Order: sequence, then structure tokens, then C-alpha cells
Amino acid sequence: MEQLIGRAARDLVDAQYAIALTGAGISTESGIPDFRGPSGVWTKNPEAERRAYLGYQRFMADPKKWWEERLANPGLLGDLGAVMPNAGHYALVELEQSGIIKCVITQNVDALHEKAGTKRLLEYHGSTAKLRCVACGLRFRRDEFDLSRLLEEKQLPPHCPTCRGVVKSDGVSFGEPIPGDVAHQSLEEAGKCDLMLICGTSAVVYPFANLPRIARERRTEMARKTGTGISAVRKVAAVTIIEVNADPTPLTEEGVSDYLIQGKTGEILPAIAAAVKRLRK
Ligand code: NAD
Ligand code: ZN
Repeated sequence: MEQLIGRAARDLVDAQYAIALTGAGISTESGIPDFRGPSGVWTKNPEAERRAYLGYQRFMADPKKWWEERLANPGLLGDLGAVMPNAGHYALVELEQSGIIKCVITQNVDALHEKAGTKRLLEYHGSTAKLRCVACGLRFRRDEFDLSRLLEEKQLPPHCPTCRGVVKSDGVSFGEPIPGDVAHQSLEEAGKCDLMLICGTSAVVYPFANLPRIARERRTEMARKTGTGISAVRKVAAVTIIEVNADPTPLTEEGVSDYLIQGKTGEILPAIAAAVKRLRK
């Protein structure tokens, strides 16, 4: 473990353009359950999973009812307003502030990276702290709409002040397309990074799980002298992919990642950030 932490720190220091990808696992130490871990929401309640799969379809069929239900019940993940980031989120902030990590792409909807202070953040599945117009894609802070008043006055769903389109939570529901802006920027990041630090994701939710695979496929050409002194061109992987996860994932098993540091993100990421600091002294 210590050796792998040192290896990750060296790889990060050597990288020109490192990015981090995160999933529900980075937030379990803040008290938010993941979906597929041993205490995951789906693991414990498969019926909730079947129902959630109809999320976007139900919203589009009856946005008023969807909002009424949403305001009456805490979401699947509970009340996220009071939850605080943990040491894993803060370690990624530290690596961003030291100029190493250029961007964090998260699947999480809990806004904890933003709360921790990550500046360049792509919320691939949106954020429950925001709302979004399904017609024009504009995002709003939740408090820009008085949802309780709209409920009382039977005025739900909220409407976009710009285009009058229907407004939903920014959190991407099952069956809902990934908003074009984050989908496009995430592809760009996967296309240009030379290191990907993947933290706390089972990497089975698509299209997010394509991002490491797209990076893995990239190759760059390196000139190499052969034994006869003639130079030849060799194709090498353009990216180093590191996983930090409690368990191996398909990325580990299929060799998409170069190595897995197995354990808790709240312990391993701070250890990596500390090792990076020592190397740069
Ligand atoms: P997942 O539940 O499918 O997988 C989580 C992974 O993290 C598992 O492999 C688990 O073993 C690992 N893990 C759990 N705790 C960990 C820890 N402390 N340290 C290291 N690894 C840990 O989650 P996913 O891959 O992100 O996919 C779930 C989808 O559901 C995502 O699309 C996300 O949008 C949504 N989701 C979000 C939240 C959130 O916002 N916090 C929570 C649950 C689900
Ligand atoms: Zn709009």
C-alpha cells in the first residue's frame, strides 16, 4: 500500500495534465450511501432501483406530480443539505491548488466537491443543489425558486424565466440524457489528460464509464532506436490510470487502469496528497 501511494504521488508529480474522476464511494465517508457497495441503496432495496429507472420518463409524463412527490419525500440519498465533505474531497482540492489536478469530473449529485472548494468541476450527473431547465439547459440555484410556495399555490412545476421551459432538479435521472455541456467537456478532458485518478466508482454506469476507456485507447508515438541504430516508431499509452477504490472494478479486471490502490478514499487520497507535498519540497 505505502509503495503504491508513493508510486501514485510520483506519477502525479510527473503528469502534465492530471484529472480526477469520482463516484459515490468518495462520499460514503461523509455518510451518504453509495448504490452498489455492501450498504448501498440498491444492494439493500432492489425495488427502489427498478422504480428509479423510470425517473426521467415519469418526470416528462407528469412534471407536476414528480415535483409534488419530490418535495414530500426525502430523495433516495436522504437530505444532502447538511452533509459535509470528507478528507478525500479536501485532498483533491489540495492537489488542484498545487497545480497538479486540472479538473474533477464527478458522477455525484451531492455538491460535496463544490462545498470542499474544487474550482474546476464537471458534475456529469448534475447536482441536487441546483435546478435545470430541460428545454434550454440553463441552471439555477435551488433558492432561486420558492418551491414551497409553488407547491402551496399549486403552481408546480417551476418554469424557466428565460424560455418558459419546464424546470427539474439538475440531478440527472435514469433515462435522461447527460446535459450536452458537461458531456462535451468531459470528453475533451478524457481526450487530453495524461493521468486519470479514479476514486470510488464501480465504473458500471454509462456513458461515464466510457471516459477511462476512451483515455486508455489513446496512444502516442515515441521514437525508438533499434539494435541496428535505425530509429523506429513505437506507440505507447498516452495516459496513466490509477484507481482508488474499496474493491476491484471492471476497470481493474479489464486492465483499463494501470493499478488499483485498494482502500478508503478518505485515507488514501490525503496520503497521496501528503506524499506529493514531500516530493515537491
Ligand atoms: P457505485 O455505488 O456504483 O460504486 C461505488 C464504489 O465505491 C464501489 O465500488 C464501492 O466499493 C466503492 N466505495 C464505497 N465506499 C468507498 C470508500 N470509502 N473508499 C473507496 N471506495 C469506496 O457508485 P458510482 O459508480 O458512483 O455509480 C452510482 C451512480 O449513482 C452515480 O452515477 C451517481 O450519480 C449516483 N450516486 C450518487 C451519490 C452521491 O452523489 N453521493 C450516491 C449514490 C449514487
Ligand atoms: Zn429555459
